Amino acid sequence: MARVAIVTGGTRGIGEAISLALKEAGMTVAANYAGNEEKAKAFTERTGIAAFRWDVSDYDACQQGVAEVEAALGPVDVVINNAGITRDGTILKMTAQMWDEVIRTNLGGCFNMAKAAFPGMRERKWGRIVNIGSINGQAGQYGQVNYAAAKSGIHGFTKALAQEGARFGVTVNAIAPGYIDTEMVAAVPADVLEKIVAKIPVGRLGQAHEIARAVAFLCAEDGGFITGSTLSINGGQHMY
Ligand code: NDP
Repeated sequence: MARVAIVTGGTRGIGEAISLALKEAGMTVAANYAGNEEKAKAFTERTGIAAFRWDVSDYDACQQGVAEVEAALGPVDVVINNAGITRDGTILKMTAQMWDEVIRTNLGGCFNMAKAAFPGMRERKWGRIVNIGSINGQAGQYGQVNYAAAKSGIHGFTKALAQEGARFGVTVNAIAPGYIDTEMVAAVPADVLEKIVAKIPVGRLGQAHEIARAVAFLCAEDGGFITGSTLSINGGQHMY
């Protein structure tokens, strides 16, 4: 039986590339999304991968979403916590709502999804969880105390859950991407982006498939000894 994988935020950007890479690796993939129906529909038509809508920041919705995927495709063996948002602003301008939304989505989403899927993985003695962190969670970033805190939290979450899964064949790892050419980065003003690229030793933005191939690597059948690790993929921008 093919492994069943859920990729949160799996219908566009880095998540789309991850969904495709896991499909190519022979898995049955469910791509979750928040609400962009148009993108999700086009993604399913293009890839043949089923898309499921729920909000990862909503605990009950994650429980229901995982149950829905399991009813449709079978027990979930792999969860990629990729869904993420930005609500940037310096601390002077950041509202409590901007803080809450980012923490609840980017970090809370990892907890909510793990709560729904980890018990089954543990029981079946095989599982793979990969959490998408960020270079900005490692190095910090001006105007992103919410995002940097959430992503930094992901790295601690990963190491702690890895210890709980280790004896049960469940690995938990993180990837910390640098700047990747997606809609999230396209929203950065051109002059700011130019300065960012100038600081990347390889001299360009990363591509989504360059993150996806690492996710597929961590989720492989013979990946059982890699757990609690963070793989930095950032063109040499931050060596950590
Ligand atoms: P995009 O903005 O291109 O895509 C985000 C995806 O997440 C969409 O599928 C979106 O769904 C989904 N999503 C957002 N909020 C929720 C939610 N509450 N519930 C379910 N799904 C949600 O993001 P990227 O591909 O750029 O980023 C993917 C991940 O990689 C994020 O965690 C981001 O922080 C991280 N990252 C990105 C970097 C970059 O340079 N791009 C660098 C470092 C890390 P919908 O389409 O319905 O809106």
